[in-house]
Amino acid sequence: MAKLKMKQFEVITLFPEVVEPYVQASILGRAQKAKRIEVRAHQLRDWSVDKHHKVDDTPYGGGPGMVMKVDVFESAVRMVAAGFSLRRKKKTRVILTSASGKTFTQADARRLAKYDQLIFLCGRYEGVDQRVEDHVADEALSIGQYVLTGGELPALVMIDAIARLVPGVIEKESLTRESHSEEGYREHPQYTKPPVYKKWKVPEVLLSGDHKKIEEWRKAFSAHQ
Ligand code: SAM
Repeated sequence: MAKLKMKQFEVITLFPEVVEPYVQASILGRAQKAKRIEVRAHQLRDWSVDKHHKVDDTPYGGGPGMVMKVDVFESAVRMVAAGFSLRRKKKTRVILTSASGKTFTQADARRLAKYDQLIFLCGRYEGVDQRVEDHVADEALSIGQYVLTGGELPALVMIDAIARLVPGVIEKESLTRESHSEEGYREHPQYTKPPVYKKWKVPEVLLSGDHKKIEEWRKAFSAHQ
């Protein structure tokens, strides 16, 4: 059997300590131990050549806040991508987290799961110099129509959704016919014991043992939208 490739997720951030605990827990933690995925958080400041490790500056044209610098992100991406290529032939994609980017969907998770290495760039403050999106990143993705304080949660959201699709991370059966696995599809409701809690009952059909009826009930629910 062909050896499964390990998927690399790289997060370039000012706050690696925000990223690390999440990816060490539960399914992602187990997948890392099993060498199905590796998630590494890199301190952006390490690539600043400024003696104070500055990573941002005031915006040209004026305005509030600070803008993160293109040179620091570019050096970081070059090094992180190159480090990986010393070990094997790679397919890398660089993603800028951006409140104004295209909204990330399950179809994007499936598309991005095909790369060997994904590099996520996390902005902070007023955002990131536009030249990062134009020349350093391959695409800019948002996780929804709201503004967060930084790109770490968006990077984690995307990593979580993509990592589930990497072979060997979760059971294959769990991935078929789940919500969003096809356009507009939603999974049927799930129940477990007890059959009655307070006055809240599990639907009779699920307790019937009639697999044909159960399948029809589930299909009807999923077609309801
Ligand atoms: N001034 C920017 C704007 O109006 O679009 C918002 C900057 S936000 C405070 C700082 C950083 O958080 C962004 O550069 C981006 O990396 C990240 N961010 C915030 N909201 C996001 C979202 N919905 N999706 C993806 N990234 C987001």
